[in-house]
Formats: sequence, structure tokens, C-alpha cells
Amino acid sequence: VTLVAVKPDGVQRRLVGQIIQRFETRGFKLVGLKMLQASEDLLAQHYASLNRKPFYPSLLRYMNSGPVVAMVWEGHNVVKSTRMLVGDTNPAEAKPGTIRGDFSIHISRNIIHASDSVEVAQAEIALWFRRSELMEWECCDHGSVYQL
Ligand code: GDP
Ligand code: MG
Repeated sequence: VTLVAVKPDGVQRRLVGQIIQRFETRGFKLVGLKMLQASEDLLAQHYASLNRKPFYPSLLRYMNSGPVVAMVWEGHNVVKSTRMLVGDTNPAEAKPGTIRGDFSIHISRNIIHASDSVEVAQAEIALWFRRSELMEWECCDHGSVYQL
């Protein structure tokens, strides 16, 4: 499982539907979804590893500037595959066909967050979601997406 969040610029630009569609059509399973205004406290924990970077204050202001759509996706190798779907952190380096490569230009407005490792994903999901907000359900096409 991995945490994905459409950042405030992605919500403003009405990209939520197209972003969700890419994960759904790939075959991943949505197990958590909510829209929220992230608190400064949540964002400070989420980006704790970047708190000495020069762009950190503006990053928190950006992430706090409006609602975000947070989601949890499940599937085989979903953390790595999601990073590939999302593309390079700097949209100038992100390949066409990736979400950042198709929809963004500047690193300070790169429209989406995705966990960068399995360990980080576990911590980020625990930070953003309660257990009761995560659904357990069977995809009816599981046998067509995966080898039985
Ligand atoms: P990510 O995992 O690909 O999102 O990248 P990082 O974890 O390294 O950085 C988190 C977020 O901080 C990025 O998605 C950008 O929104 C922002 N960021 C990273 N590097 C820079 C930078 O050099 N300048 C600015 N303005 N923002 C940055
Ligand atoms: Mg990161």
C-alpha cells in the first residue's frame, strides 16, 4: 500500500479525476480516499525530513494553501509503480506519460505526492489515515489483473 496525495495545485486545476483514473486503469485498488485541508502540524510531520531545506517554508505554505485529496492505493509493487506513474520530482525531468510530466512545469507546483519507499509509505498512511478509514475489499477482476 502507498500514500498518494493530490496537492492543492492539482485540486485547483481539477486534475483529481484524471489522476485517480490513471491508478484505477493501471489496475491498482483504492482502499482509502478523503479530501482535507492539511494542518501545519500534519504537514510538518509529513515533510519532517526536509525541514532544513531552503524551500521548506514555502513547501508548507503551498501544501497548506487549500484542500488536498489523500488516497491509499494497494497492489503488487504499488510503491515503486506509483513513483513511476508520478514521475520525477522536478517536472522538467519527468517523462511525458507520467502525471508530473503531463500536467506540471515547475518543481514548486508538481501537483502530486507519492510515498518513496515501503517503510515511508507505512508511516505516511498512519499519519494521514485512521485504520477505520481504510477499506478491505476484493476487486472482482483480480484474476485478470494478476496471475491466479
Ligand atoms: P517527491 O518525493 O518527489 O515529492 O520529492 P521530495 O520528497 O524530495 O520533496 C518533496 C516536495 O518538496 C516535492 O514534491 C516538491 O513539491 C518540493 N521540492 C523538492 N525539491 C524542491 C526544490 O528544490 N524547490 C522547491 N521549490 N520545491 C522543492
Ligand atoms: Mg518525497
